[in-house]
Amino acid sequence: MNNNIEKLQKMIDESEKIVFFGGAGVSTESGIPDFRSADGIYMMDYKYPPEKIISHSFFVEHTKEFYEFYSKHLYAPGAKPNAAHYKLAELEKVGKLSAVITQNIDGLHTAAGSRNVYELHGSTLRNYCMKCGKSFDVEYVCGCNDIPRCSCGGIIKPDVVLYEESLNDTTVNGALKAIENADMLIVAGTSLTVYPAAGFIRYFKGKNVVLINRDATEMDERFGFIIHGKVGEILSQIKA
Ligand code: NAD
Repeated sequence: MNNNIEKLQKMIDESEKIVFFGGAGVSTESGIPDFRSADGIYMMDYKYPPEKIISHSFFVEHTKEFYEFYSKHLYAPGAKPNAAHYKLAELEKVGKLSAVITQNIDGLHTAAGSRNVYELHGSTLRNYCMKCGKSFDVEYVCGCNDIPRCSCGGIIKPDVVLYEESLNDTTVNGALKAIENADMLIVAGTSLTVYPAAGFIRYFKGKNVVLINRDATEMDERFGFIIHGKVGEILSQIKA
């Protein structure tokens, strides 16, 4: 065990209310690209920048193009949880972790067995008709070659928070409360550039905080303890 893992293990051992705050980097080891890495979605060549494509106005004005991009890059059929997702579920099960707060929309924390998950940006797994509210699964929505529609004629929208849309109040309040009550905060796999989510870590008042990220972030100076590396590889070395 190297020094960083030993230090992380010690922090986890002495903590009782750990909160995990993660982003797209948590799922790259499951084969889902993040946004800002060299092989991330932002580096791909598109007619419009990805922030524009996954915005509310683009969804309304160019629904077909939105779905072409979305089905190809944000829907990940067959992706399975990785070691990070499973370790967090295990930490919750043994009573050490109180919540996972994620910016991801892939549903992999829940698939790994985590129960108290705050999906700040929603989930691709939930979809609803904008006219009558009927629910649809992601296979139906992303399997359509055209704009997905309900039998009532309404357009189906993923329950995902697009740029220009607000986060869900109940989810935000639950996540902030969990952070405020935590005695340890693990931040991982996020560039900490997407607001308001990135600002949530300011609510932490506890003792132990760690950033586990492959690359440097704009907020590195806020963290006394940083481990640069792959979150799945790192958390797999931790004993719950
Ligand atoms: P980001 O792409 O801006 O940053 C990802 C960060 O994770 C980078 O700093 C990178 O160095 C790091 N990283 C990549 N792989 C890693 C690994 N294995 N271990 C540790 N660190 C790793 O992602 P973000 O900050 O989450 O913000 C982007 C937005 O993109 C979020 O709002 C999210 O909703 C959305 N998104 C979600 C998914 C998903 O659901 N899986 C995928 C792409 C984008």
